[in-house]
Amino acid sequence: MARVYNFCAGPAALPTAVLEKASSEMLNWNDKGLSVMEMSHRSDEYVSIAKKAEQDLRDLLTIPDNYKVLFMQGGATAQFAMIPMNLLRGKNTADYINTGQWSEKAIKEAKHYCDVNVVASSEDKNFSYAPAQSDLKLNPDAAYVHYTPNETIGGVEFDYIPDTGDVPLVADFSSSILSEELDVSKFGLIYAGAQKNIGPAGLCIVIVREDLLGDTITGTPTAMDYKVAADNESMYNTPATYSWYLAGLVFDWLKQQGGVDAMAKVNARKAQKLYEYIDNSGFYANPVAVNNRSRMNVPFTLKNSALDGLFLSQADQAGLLNLKGHRSVGGMRASIYNAVTESAVDALIAFMQEFASQNG
Ligand SMILES: *Cc1c(COP(=O)(O)O)cnc(C)c1O
Repeated sequence: MARVYNFCAGPAALPTAVLEKASSEMLNWNDKGLSVMEMSHRSDEYVSIAKKAEQDLRDLLTIPDNYKVLFMQGGATAQFAMIPMNLLRGKNTADYINTGQWSEKAIKEAKHYCDVNVVASSEDKNFSYAPAQSDLKLNPDAAYVHYTPNETIGGVEFDYIPDTGDVPLVADFSSSILSEELDVSKFGLIYAGAQKNIGPAGLCIVIVREDLLGDTITGTPTAMDYKVAADNESMYNTPATYSWYLAGLVFDWLKQQGGVDAMAKVNARKAQKLYEYIDNSGFYANPVAVNNRSRMNVPFTLKNSALDGLFLSQADQAGLLNLKGHRSVGGMRASIYNAVTESAVDALIAFMQEFASQNG
């Protein structure tokens, strides 16, 4: 059966070449006579898989040596709690920028642990833009500043990295990590759930500056202590071994594509042509400020929302899947992560054109 074009926000499309490789190794990895899923995480074989994945990620993002890379579980949502537990370090207040649903969830969770100071919010315009640096009312005594560089649901992406001075910057890169080059040294901590732009669900990558570790709040569960994870190479307990392996295959694939810089060029082209078509169509619309339009998640509405159901069923028939917008906002959303090819975007635009001409 032919593979469909999958525009799911997450768990999202994976590169076909990666799935083929995993499939060829499913029963018998490297002639060892067993599947990666069946390996002890302490075996030499598995440790070699884990280490290669970490090294490839370090290479892809040029992660400096004073940063630890952790392969954790619990999704990005568990990080909403782990971040204050690990990074408050004796302080009782943290700054948060609110740009939509994922920032709001992070804020809500952090409030269990500290005073949350919302230093800027785009709620005034229905979360359709990212606040400017000059709008951030930062507190120099905050333990850290948290923001969401790409809001997966609203399709809003920051076009700059906030300058927070000496206060560590913490970023939820779940839906845009590895989509373009990133100066990791500007951050105290970067985290990303795997199921958007990395690999299968069950894994969350945390990249954290070493000097921030080791001062957790009382009662922090051992499995949620970054220092314990770092000291044990993310194997204090059993990690999500198969997801980690698959993420490694994706990192390897990214290197073969020419790395993050090469992906960024394709991603920019994909997003640009889709937004350009939407803007010129007279039939579809995207509400986000032009400078803050996400390169990964493209929400759009039809001129007449009564046509939504027809659009989705015809798209399904044409092999274009998972275009329904988030249940909280309605309309459509096309997620066009690294693994979604330019031809998938071309096919989507062709379908949208055809649909508009028949229903306009
Ligand atoms: C998907 C997503 C999350 C939640 O991830 P889980 O792994 O389901 O916890 C958090 N933040 C952002 C930006 C996301 O896109």
